[in-house]
Amino acid sequence: MVERLRNHYRIRDERALAAMERIPRHLFVPEALQSHAYADHALPIEFNQTISQPFIVARETELLEVTKDDRVLEIGAGSGYQTAVLAAVAGQVFALERIPDLAREAQARLRSLGIHNAAIKCFDGTYGWNEFAPYRGILVAAAAPEAPKALIDQLAIGGHLVIPIGTETDQRLIRITRTPEGIITEDFGPCQFVKLIGRFGWEK
Ligand code: SAH
Repeated sequence: MVERLRNHYRIRDERALAAMERIPRHLFVPEALQSHAYADHALPIEFNQTISQPFIVARETELLEVTKDDRVLEIGAGSGYQTAVLAAVAGQVFALERIPDLAREAQARLRSLGIHNAAIKCFDGTYGWNEFAPYRGILVAAAAPEAPKALIDQLAIGGHLVIPIGTETDQRLIRITRTPEGIITEDFGPCQFVKLIGRFGWEK
């Protein structure tokens, strides 16, 4: 899996690659699908959600450009796999997930893997998590109609928000950087995520 990320997808972030080499992805997918855990695609998890394709996990992590000194926020923790990768490259991870059972199971999974610098809470991530703001990086794992304002407000100066923007069928991976003069927006091409559902996301 990691060889493909490096050679086919040209992921250059060695810390993200090392984390993905080490974290047992099969423990984040339903038992019946464990033999597919290291293949190059997203997989279904409970409640009609998905664990993101390894490439997208690596790509979003790489675009975040965070270090062990940084606090990051993740929206849409799902299985907790991306959370585990972020916990390996960042100092502290705060993650939100709107489905209570997924949030609970993901937190238990991280604990059983000995990951203690990540907290997962059940809450609508379109509000962000103000208590621990500002964040050096904010990673969103579900597609929004536009970047929720709260997330931009909770970014540190110089920090990145990586977020898929678009409809169910037509999305672009966008990186927003907060600078003292305003925001910079970059487009990293088409992508495919489940929808971000919430007060400042999609209605359903
Ligand atoms: N990174 C996860 C991706 C899970 S799919 C993984 O690889 O396992 C995206 C997740 O976003 C789903 O679990 C979905 O329930 C969650 N989600 C959608 N809208 C949300 C919102 N407003 N706040 C928090 N989580 C949300």
